[in-house]
Amino acid sequence: MRYADVVLPLPLEGFFTYSIPESFLQEGLVGCRVVVPFGKTKTYVALVVRIHDITPKGYKVKPLKQRIDQSPIVNALQLNLWTWISSYYLSAMGDIYKAALPSGLKAEDGYKPSTELYVALAPAFQSEPSLHIALNMLKRATKQLDAFTCFLHLSHWDEIGVDVQTEKIVEITRDELVNASAQTLNVINELVKRGLLVTYEKEVGRLNDGGEPHPERVNKLNPAQQKAMDEIRLKMESKNCVLLHGVTSSGKTEIYINLIQQEIEHGRQVLYLLPEIALTVQIMSRLKKVFGRRLGIYHSKYSDAERVEIWQKQLSDEPYDVILGARSAVLLPFQRLGLVIVDEEHETSYKQQDPAPRYHARSVALVLAQMTGAKTLLGTATPSIETYRNATTGKYGLVNLTTRYSGVELPETEIVDIGDLRRRKMMAGMFSPLLLGKIREAIERGEQAIVFQNRRGYAPLIECKQCGWVPHCNHCDVSLTLHKTTNQLVCHYCGFTYQVPDICPACGCKELRPKGSGTERIEDALHEAFPEANIARMDLDTTRTRNAYERIIRDFSAGRTNILIGTQMVTKGLDFDKVSVVGILNADNMLNYPDFRAYEHAYMMMAQVGGRAGRRGKRGLVVIQTYSPNLPVISQVTRGDYLGMYNDQLSERLQFHYPPFYHLIYLYMKHSNDKTVEMAAVEVSSWLRQWFGDRVKGPVKPDVGKIKTLNIRMVVLKLENGIDMAKVRQYLKRAREAILADKRYSTLTIYFDVDPV
Ligand code: ADP
Ligand code: ZN
Ligand code: ZN
Repeated sequence: MRYADVVLPLPLEGFFTYSIPESFLQEGLVGCRVVVPFGKTKTYVALVVRIHDITPKGYKVKPLKQRIDQSPIVNALQLNLWTWISSYYLSAMGDIYKAALPSGLKAEDGYKPSTELYVALAPAFQSEPSLHIALNMLKRATKQLDAFTCFLHLSHWDEIGVDVQTEKIVEITRDELVNASAQTLNVINELVKRGLLVTYEKEVGRLNDGGEPHPERVNKLNPAQQKAMDEIRLKMESKNCVLLHGVTSSGKTEIYINLIQQEIEHGRQVLYLLPEIALTVQIMSRLKKVFGRRLGIYHSKYSDAERVEIWQKQLSDEPYDVILGARSAVLLPFQRLGLVIVDEEHETSYKQQDPAPRYHARSVALVLAQMTGAKTLLGTATPSIETYRNATTGKYGLVNLTTRYSGVELPETEIVDIGDLRRRKMMAGMFSPLLLGKIREAIERGEQAIVFQNRRGYAPLIECKQCGWVPHCNHCDVSLTLHKTTNQLVCHYCGFTYQVPDICPACGCKELRPKGSGTERIEDALHEAFPEANIARMDLDTTRTRNAYERIIRDFSAGRTNILIGTQMVTKGLDFDKVSVVGILNADNMLNYPDFRAYEHAYMMMAQVGGRAGRRGKRGLVVIQTYSPNLPVISQVTRGDYLGMYNDQLSERLQFHYPPFYHLIYLYMKHSNDKTVEMAAVEVSSWLRQWFGDRVKGPVKPDVGKIKTLNIRMVVLKLENGIDMAKVRQYLKRAREAILADKRYSTLTIYFDVDPV
């Protein structure tokens, strides 16, 4: 009898064994999907990982029900990689299977091409006079009017003069309009009913419209870039991984494009990873111009149908030569990988937090490259401490690029002491006179400004003026954020929304005031200060749809927007021509963050967002507002002294037992009952202490001690380099199994975060 070990799309450890019926074609079964019975009534689409003839003992083996694929949809290389991820990150194969495959490949019926619903201006209103009539019709329906005006703005109909130039019009999806206007679907539907808007469907996922490749469009590198490129190639002869440490706008992307072209000429594939979708929009068009249909794009904002299409092409005889993608693209099938580029390698969004598997795409990329014999190039202006250490100790090759492509100097930085200005009553809300003045000058000269605030919403909390009461989430241990666009209180941890109370439930006082400022409030303040300016906001709330991202970036690039306000999204390698001023409203938010990486991250954030200033032909200015102007890290940012920051951090890390000298593993436990989780945590940590001694810290209740009704405890393990990690993992698994086997804790959630960021 032959048996098949399969992975189920469930968060379960290990494999499940089924017998292979006689009638089944066994050839090429590994890597194929099969339908299997599970439990009393369920069936699942599982993936075969191995065939053997060892009869399982202790239970009655059930047969496979059906073979779905004729040839494997997951190759041997991927299965090896999954096994590594599962072992290193202590996560279940089932979770990796779930994360890797687009849902269309996990379901039985395959996938259908999906469509998106768009809204357009009804033909009858496509002229200036008739638009006035339309706006008049809506005079009494404020919500509809708001939604309609928002539509006109997004689609650019509001710019159309007497001669209609429809080529300027941008297509808007209905979801995007709902989101951007903060109105309900009903309101939009009313506009359709009244005949002002019409809807139409469009198939998503026209991936292969990339057109002809144009290798002749690869830009010729300047001497500094060419030298860096030659060094990269040279160092790759002896090292598997090279770090390209190049200042912002030094032309790293152009070097990548040159390297990719070389790989293609040698018949090899390239995986180009970016931390987030915000970045892909710009880089995508740069790559498309050169590589055309050779380029495939893969990330979570793409529809499932599109992702299935890419996956299948990757398995075909003609896979993409270049894949540009976010984190999960490392899990795609590759056949002849030659190079992996991890751009902005320092970005923490390469680490998947929730759900499992909690993997770091940079580490997985390195392993993938090693398994295939490919080389890895890490690129950034601000390397992570871990990577820089690897590059300076000789584990990786190191290549420096210290000049900007345009020759323009790195921006000048001015530090503003907001504590001092507040005492002297000189702050205008969140703005120093210097920053306001510089933004004004920029606008007057037809240049642009970026304002960075690392909090979305209007205010991080509201407070009763009389008694100090603050509304909290019913499910989480956090105060609620005020969102004015939707006029709601929102929990940023579980997403629950609440009505804004009229009176304080504790004392009856009618004055509840917003405290602190998020991006919405800054946007309001900027509108007040610069009524003539076009202001756009880029944060999680304004970019829920993929089109919204593209639109905000496109409008800003085209100079249609004067000021862009945003969260860390605006810090990511975006390349804009006319930004002369960048304002960081409150550096302290980042500096005071309770984490050993706070300074490292604050440095990166400031250096990266600052790097958006003065990119073509002219030196830019960065204004950093802070209560702690004398912190060394602030002057390190000012001087562009990465090495200073690195050395400071390194000695702290050594002293306090942190990476890169120690491995960190966080153990999380969650339960609806606080006493239960506390007891379990004390028990688990005492076992761990027996094995690992004082490498174990905790348990502690994290700052946010309850999320989604679950109370949390965490235990920190600090493991010195060189410790036998295989053994560590064994012990950790044993602890998890033992605690879950205890009846009192059977409903406990327990998981590990390996190499947390
Ligand atoms: P980085 O990735 O280091 O931030 P980019 O590759 O985005 O830098 O380059 C910054 C700007 O300079 C871009 O607008 C890019 O098009 C331009 N640029 C860089 N190198 C070249 C080159 N060799 N030829 C033409 N333009 C270049
Ligand atoms: Zn009160
Ligand atoms: Zn909540």
